[in-house]
Amino acid sequence: MDLLLFGPPGAGKGTQAKFLVKELGIPQLSTGDMMRAERASGSDLGKKFNEYMSQGLLVPDELVLELMEKVLSSEEAAKGAIFDGFPRTAPQAEALDAILAKLGRKIDRVVAIEVDLDVIIDRVTGRRVCKSCGQTYHLRYDPPPSDGVCTACGGEIYQRADDTEETVRKRDSEYQAKTAAVLDHYDAKGVVAHINGVGELDEITERIREAIATA
Ligand SMILES: [Zn+2]
Repeated sequence: MDLLLFGPPGAGKGTQAKFLVKELGIPQLSTGDMMRAERASGSDLGKKFNEYMSQGLLVPDELVLELMEKVLSSEEAAKGAIFDGFPRTAPQAEALDAILAKLGRKIDRVVAIEVDLDVIIDRVTGRRVCKSCGQTYHLRYDPPPSDGVCTACGGEIYQRADDTEETVRKRDSEYQAKTAAVLDHYDAKGVVAHINGVGELDEITERIREAIATA
């Protein structure tokens, strides 16, 4: 099964991807990790990556796609993959579809985890964090002690500078802009499942499980 997983920042996408890797026995393919590994391997393709990456330049799509084809044809990804960070544009999605088609495969399901923006704003703006151990609190759902001292380690509890409504809104519009084209591409193929991302982790996992069971 070949899957794409989408989720706005703070929707628990990483956690759910780990569950899918385990449940389906397929790898999560992060283009960033893949390119770094290929570069480190010293292969011809890796050397080409190096030319761009060492100068801080964006690696051209055709090279990323060459790597994608190589990895998708390998034993590791023979049963499918979960794509992470790719495709980001409609042309990339079309190119990925073509590679998969050569292997007799296709994107079987696109899982789009959706969280109401107000819910994310509430989560983020109410969040307080321990400076020392990273323990998180929420003003209403898990209030920190009134003395501002972490119950876990005695450290100082504070609000991170970017835990603001403005930042959340900015990240959300960036996310929407970045994903719209790819979601539209797969929506037209009828493979997108929109999942409610509000709830306990295992509830969301169950919704994802149902969405891929019908793929
Ligand atoms: Zn602490």
